[in-house]
Amino acid sequence: MAPLAKRSSAREKKSLVRRSAPDRSQPIRHLVQWLFVALNLWIGLQFLLWARYFEHGETGLYVSRPSGVEGWLPIAGLMNTKYLLLTGRVPTIHPAAMYLFLGFVLTSLLMKKAFCSWLCPVGTISENLWKLGRFAVGRSFRLPRWLDVALRSLKYLLLSLFVLVIGSMSAEMLAGFMSTPYGIIADVKMLDFFRNPRLTGAIVMALLVLFSLLIRNFWCRYLCPYGALLGLASLLSPLKIRRDAQACIDCGKCSRACPAQLPVDRLVQVRSVECSACLACVASCPAENALQFALPPRRSAAPTLRWYRRVVGPIALTGILAYIFFGIILWARVTGHWQTNIPREVYARLVPHANQVSHPGL
Ligand code: SF4
Ligand code: SF4
Repeated sequence: MAPLAKRSSAREKKSLVRRSAPDRSQPIRHLVQWLFVALNLWIGLQFLLWARYFEHGETGLYVSRPSGVEGWLPIAGLMNTKYLLLTGRVPTIHPAAMYLFLGFVLTSLLMKKAFCSWLCPVGTISENLWKLGRFAVGRSFRLPRWLDVALRSLKYLLLSLFVLVIGSMSAEMLAGFMSTPYGIIADVKMLDFFRNPRLTGAIVMALLVLFSLLIRNFWCRYLCPYGALLGLASLLSPLKIRRDAQACIDCGKCSRACPAQLPVDRLVQVRSVECSACLACVASCPAENALQFALPPRRSAAPTLRWYRRVVGPIALTGILAYIFFGIILWARVTGHWQTNIPREVYARLVPHANQVSHPGL
């Protein structure tokens, strides 16, 4: 956390404050979130049709397998990234998982965990669940600090587990794992988890929904190892929420708006791994130029133009996200590394029997 900024007289400043222009960041962010949900639903539908074609003995409509589905395989993305680093070669199975994984890490290195609050469909569902819960019961609940801190360590424990296991694997082991039936149809196994949940899985999902209704971003805050990794990468982000103590009127609205429960009104910059660049704090701030998502050093003497901060800023963030996301996909397509290279007859053999395929380590 950054050092606490010295407060001036709130009343004195309130009388002098210049009201900020209406903020556009949240409608833009919500639009991007739902467009990304729609994109994922489209990819999911294509993938479902593709899987059913093989499940029905290669009859009916054939839809080609959408590589974007590999965005749901972050562990494959991590494994393939290590394979690339060790061998210098792009893996042939689930390469899109690696490209998307690297793209999302890159966004975190540049603009905090913007992936979590702007793109991730699970983040969008989490956010809407706690808003729905707040609407239903009139409030969101906060866990006691000791429990909050203890639970927040869970996502790092999960991340450590994956990093330790994958870190101990050689290039041959990584390639060997990906070539197993489980590695090849890991995406179908993921689909089956949602399509045909087992009792344990269904109970866990129901509990997650319940907790997500009552506690802000329950999954993201406590359990998501992907978010944990992106949060660590985000520590290097030059773009951060920055507060100008001179312009701030100490109203505390930013802290109350923050879904990550960060004390924004007491910081000069938000370094926390929990900040997801959602800009809810900026949107809630009534004082002109008191709070910005900006590069260092913040030039208090030359405040950013209102139209830039309120309109172009969020659009620029959206543009950079889109540029990285689609740029990486384009690069992978142009270089011929986007598609998984598995013969159709292999899928015809494995997909109908996906429920009999188990993890090679079990
Ligand atoms: S500090 Fe601001 S941008 Fe970061 S999570 Fe909180 S509200 Fe969102
Ligand atoms: S919302 Fe936060 S940064 Fe803006 S004036 Fe109030 S306390 Fe200061």
